[in-house]
Amino acid sequence: MAFSQLTPEELLRYDRQLGPGVLGTEGQLRLKNATALVTRTGGMGGPASLALVMGGVGRVIIAHGGKLISPDLNRQVLGCEAGVDKPRMPRFADYLRSMNRHVEVEGIDHEPDDDEATELATRSDVILSCPPGFEERMRLNRVAVAASVPLIDAAQWGMAGTLIVVKPGETACLRCVYPEDPPFEELFPVVGAISAAIGALAALEAIKILSRTGSPMFGKLLMIDAFQSQTSTVTLRRRPDCPCCGSGARE
Ligand SMILES: [Zn+2]
Repeated sequence: MAFSQLTPEELLRYDRQLGPGVLGTEGQLRLKNATALVTRTGGMGGPASLALVMGGVGRVIIAHGGKLISPDLNRQVLGCEAGVDKPRMPRFADYLRSMNRHVEVEGIDHEPDDDEATELATRSDVILSCPPGFEERMRLNRVAVAASVPLIDAAQWGMAGTLIVVKPGETACLRCVYPEDPPFEELFPVVGAISAAIGALAALEAIKILSRTGSPMFGKLLMIDAFQSQTSTVTLRRRPDCPCCGSGARE
């Protein structure tokens, strides 16, 4: 792919993020020439993909199946009341496109299976994992590790959320952290404000990684328990016998 330069119009659009302490022109150019995959674009992935699109990531691939339902509207910012009972995609993709014509948005109207996730990983520079269940989160972890693509795993429950940032081959992967899948709770409680907070932080990590700006949170777990007003960061250890990134039996 040819390396595209920034146009005067783009320099104007991103003016507020080009100074000292933010991206710089070089970082912005790296964003323009990068691809981010966001799977599930609900409470966390919606705000995350919006921040990536507005920030100027050149290609944002979003994946989310099904129809929007009324209870989604406490957190799914890419939706609207007129979209209830209608397929999320392509409305979510169209909304993102309406926010920045300088980037490309690719909408996938279902949750990718193993083969499709593998193919998507190979053409992505970063993966933002925002599904509600562990099966999908672990699938994205597997394909990210196999393709050596940085993974940002976002999770939410109630008024709390976590963020794990993985540099495959160097830092703990999601399977190192969760040797067994916890039980899945279909309709868990969640307040949209924490979803948006975790999603925005996931996007910020992606922007740092793609633009090579600041210090990404590789190998760490950030936990925000807004219910108790507590925040903590833990350094994660790789498991040598991890079945995904270590010497254990392959998953
Ligand atoms: Zn691992």
